[in-house]
Amino acid sequence: MPSGLPNALTVDLEDWYHSVLEVEPSDWPRHEDRVASATERLLACLAERGARATFFVLGHVAERHPELVPAIEAAGHEIACHGYAHRLVYTQSPEEFRDDLHRSLSLLRGQAKTPIRGYRAAYWSITRACPWALDILADEGLVYDSSLYPTRTSLYGVPDAPRRPFRLRTPGGRELAEFPPSVLRFPFRNLPFAGGIYLRLLPYWFVRWAMRRFRRAGRPALVYIHPPEFDPDKPRLPLRFGARVLHYARLDAFRVKVPRLLADFAFITLGELLDQYAANGSLPTWSFGSRKW
Ligand SMILES: [Zn+2]
Repeated sequence: MPSGLPNALTVDLEDWYHSVLEVEPSDWPRHEDRVASATERLLACLAERGARATFFVLGHVAERHPELVPAIEAAGHEIACHGYAHRLVYTQSPEEFRDDLHRSLSLLRGQAKTPIRGYRAAYWSITRACPWALDILADEGLVYDSSLYPTRTSLYGVPDAPRRPFRLRTPGGRELAEFPPSVLRFPFRNLPFAGGIYLRLLPYWFVRWAMRRFRRAGRPALVYIHPPEFDPDKPRLPLRFGARVLHYARLDAFRVKVPRLLADFAFITLGELLDQYAANGSLPTWSFGSRKW
């Protein structure tokens, strides 16, 4: 196993309302567009600390802001695909999923200089309910995925998936490299810590301790962030309590926590990490039919 690999940083490039399940896509035009300024702040933060990231760009954002993909690429980051309309994969038919993916990839391939190699599903929603999506990703020329979350929640999760990068065999016998977000193993549940609500709510000392555990094990950690998390002034929607916490809790602290994380650890893109795995060693293989390991 390769050791000493840097960590990978990923960004889901979407606006503040895209990931609010309560907001229907038909209502998106009514909401204030804030993604460009939030992305600008995030890019400045990354540049200051010399961190590179993979940006999983939502097609709807690429369509409305065609200037963003070239600017992100010019800053040294990788462009990857987050679908077009931010829909749960397991609520779509294979045909709907393929159309959404294709629409997004066409936009991104028209804007990016380098090939699009990776995909992340909205809400981590490739689960045991829709393994067919993996074959569609391979059909469309993608080589890696980062949609399987090795934990269990009401919305997503493949709790028995490996907690480290691996080679994922699809139901159709194809292969994709899979990069799961980092989780800590506890007796009854894997604990996420490396992104979203988990990264925002957990104290920084705990996150740093968890990241160091990955380093000691010779494994790269995978962190994920969203530009709206750098936008504490984003509009407040009248959501139920849980959704309010999910979207608005600890946004102020996040703007301090992420720079500390970038100062304490080195980060590269998933594409670079994949190339390093290819050069230094092989990834273990796993499929949905595999036993837990
Ligand atoms: Zn998203």
